[in-house]
Amino acid sequence: MHELSITRNIVSIVEEAAKGRRVKRVAIDVGKLAGVMPDALAFCFDVVAKGTALHGARLDINEIAGRCRCRDCGGEFETASLYQACACGSRRVERIAGEELKIREMEVEEAA
Ligand SMILES: [Zn+2]
Repeated sequence: MHELSITRNIVSIVEEAAKGRRVKRVAIDVGKLAGVMPDALAFCFDVVAKGTALHGARLDINEIAGRCRCRDCGGEFETASLYQACACGSRRVERIAGEELKIREMEVEEAA
């Protein structure tokens, strides 16, 4: 399950950026074609965050639909699959969205 190592990555990046402050919320972008399960990420997050600055923090997962652009007809379409052909029949399509996996924002507790 590679969601665990992804989550460890996210937690360590956020913890470093928080510089000792407690983290209240983390928002991440997860493309639907990124090959990760949001549910698994959420589960791993709770486990990995224990004992870190992110303990008890909320994880907001923003799912981004896959989008492709056809190189032949120029059409853009939403897709849930990496291998979907365009409506015009062309398979020369490039992905323009849906493979994101990044931290969008984080909220830390203000220093007293
Ligand atoms: Zn096309």
